[in-house]
Amino acid sequence: MQFDVVVIGSGMGALSAAALLSADGLKVAILEQNWLPGGCTSAYWRKGFVFEAGATTLVGLDEGMPLQAVLQRTGIRIDAVPLQVPMQVHLANGQSITRHQNLNEWIAEAERVFGKEGQRPFWEFCYKVSQFVWRTSLKQTAFPPTSATDLLQCALRVTPKQLHYAAYAFFSTEWLLKKFNLHRNSLFVDFVNEQLLITAQNYAPQVNVLFGATALCYTNYGNYYVNGGLINLVRPFVDFIEQRGGKIFLRHKAVAIVPSREGYVVRALFKGKQETDFRARFVISGIPINNTLPLFRGDVSPQLKKRLLRLQKQVMGAAYLNSAFQIGIGFRPHKPVTCLHHQIHLREPLPETGSASIFLSFNHPNDHSRSDLPGLAVASVSTHVPQCRTQLNKQMAEQAVVQRLAELDLLQPENIVYMHASTPAAWEKWTQRAFGFVGGYPQYIHIKPWQMLDARLDGKRAYICGDTTYPGQGIPGVVLSGMIAYEKLKRDWL
Ligand SMILES: Cc1cc2nc3c(=O)[nH]c(=O)nc-3n(C[C@H](O)[C@H](O)[C@H](O)COP(=O)(O)OP(=O)(O)OC[C@H]3O[C@@H](n4cnc5c(N)ncnc54)[C@H](O)[C@@H]3O)c2cc1C
Repeated sequence: MQFDVVVIGSGMGALSAAALLSADGLKVAILEQNWLPGGCTSAYWRKGFVFEAGATTLVGLDEGMPLQAVLQRTGIRIDAVPLQVPMQVHLANGQSITRHQNLNEWIAEAERVFGKEGQRPFWEFCYKVSQFVWRTSLKQTAFPPTSATDLLQCALRVTPKQLHYAAYAFFSTEWLLKKFNLHRNSLFVDFVNEQLLITAQNYAPQVNVLFGATALCYTNYGNYYVNGGLINLVRPFVDFIEQRGGKIFLRHKAVAIVPSREGYVVRALFKGKQETDFRARFVISGIPINNTLPLFRGDVSPQLKKRLLRLQKQVMGAAYLNSAFQIGIGFRPHKPVTCLHHQIHLREPLPETGSASIFLSFNHPNDHSRSDLPGLAVASVSTHVPQCRTQLNKQMAEQAVVQRLAELDLLQPENIVYMHASTPAAWEKWTQRAFGFVGGYPQYIHIKPWQMLDARLDGKRAYICGDTTYPGQGIPGVVLSGMIAYEKLKRDWL
C-alpha cells in the first residue's frame, strides 16, 4: 500500500504529527498494534466501566500551548471541561493541600501548609520560568538543533531572555530549593519530590530548573477533563486524519523499516500473522527509541549503520526507567466528588513497588458515560514502578492502596463493585514498549535539553516523536514532540 507518510503508533505524539501532515494534504497511514488507538492516552471498556488506560490529567488547551496550537491549525475540536480545582495533595503527616490554579491563591495555600519562608519568591520564580518555557517552546520548533537549517532557525528566533534562561538547564531543582532557603523544610522537599515524579519522572537533584519549574507549575495552567475518557481526545484526531484520506490500521504491528529508493517500506503484521508492506516517502516513528532502532532492517548503508549506533548511545535501559502499577476501580460514591485528582503521600512505602505516593483520579461527576449503571463511578490509581520490575504481588499493593483511600475517606472498600490491577507486564502488552516502561525518559541532570533525542532519526526521511524524544513528558510534551517532527520534516523536504 502506498502513502505519503507511514506513522508508527497512535500515541498523542504520533497523532499530533499525523494530523498536521494531513492538514497539509499528505496521505498518512497510521499503524497501531493495539485494537484501540492512543497508547498511554486512551480508555477501554471493561465490566461495565470505561477506564482510562494511563493518563488522566490534561493540560495544554490554554492559548499558546502545544495542544491548543495543533487544534487551532487543524480545526480539530475536543469536548473538554475546565476543572475548577486541578488537584489535591494529601501529605504523609495527614495535612491536605489544594493546588489552586490561581498563583496567589496557590501561594497562600502553600504558605498555610509549609510556612511563609521562601514560598512566595520560589513560586513566583517557578511560574515565571514556566511561562517562559511554554512561550519559547512554540517559537523554537527547530530545537534541539541538529542541522544547519535548525541552527539558523534557532538563531533567528533567539532572544537575550532565552539565553539567560537557558543557563538554568545547568542547575537542578535541588539547587533552586537551596537558593530560596527551602532545602531544610523537609515537608516541602518531600512535596516537591513527589510532584516532580508525576511530571518529570524524577526527583529534585536530577531535574533541571527549566523542566522542574514547569513541572511544578503544571496545576497553575488550565487543567481539563475530557468527557468519556481520554480516548475522546484521541478519536477526533483519528477522524480528522481519516477525513483527509489517511487511514489508521489497528492491530497492525510494524516489524521492520526498510529504506528504499522512494523512501521506506514499513512491514507490518496484522494480528501477529498476516504480513503487509506499507510504502511511503516518509516515516514517523511514534514509539520509543528503544523499540524504533531494532526496526531498521534490510540493506542498511554504512552511514545509516553509524548513525543508528550513535542513536543507540542515547537509549536508556530498564535501570533508568519507570513503569506503572495501576488499579482501575468501579464503585458507588459515598459522597460528592469535589476534586478529580489527588496525589496521596504514603507513611510507609507501598508494598511491592516501594512508592512514596500514589495518584488517584475520579471521573467527572457530570460525566455519566463512564459506567453502564447509573450512580456508579470510576477511579484510577497509579504509581511508579522503578526500574520496571515485573514480578509484583498485585494483591499486597492493592490492599495497601484501598486501605489508604479508605483512611482518607476518598473511597469506601465496601462500595467497590469491580477492581483490576495492571503491572509492567500489562503495559508491555498494551503498548509493546520495551520492559513496559511508561511516562517517557525521566529527566537526568547530566542530559541538557539540547542533548535530548532529536526528531531526525536516520538523517534522511525518517523522524521520531513521543515521550523518549525532546521534550516528551506527558501529553503536553509529546504533542510538542509531534509538532517538532512535523516542522522538521516540512522544513527538510516540503
Ligand atoms: C499510568 C500513567 C499515567 C499517566 N498520567 C498522565 C497524566 O495524567 N497526564 C499526562 O499528560 N500524561 C500522563 N502520562 C504520560 C502520557 O500518557 C504519555 O507520556 C503519552 O501518552 C505517551 O505518548 P506517546 O506519543 O509517546 O505514545 P504512546 O502512548 O506510547 O503510544 C505509542 C503507541 O504505539 C503503539 N505501538 C508500539 N509499538 C508498535 C509497533 N511496532 N507497531 C505499531 N504500533 C506500535 C502502541 O500500542 C501505542 O498505542 C501517564 C502515563 C501513564 C502510563
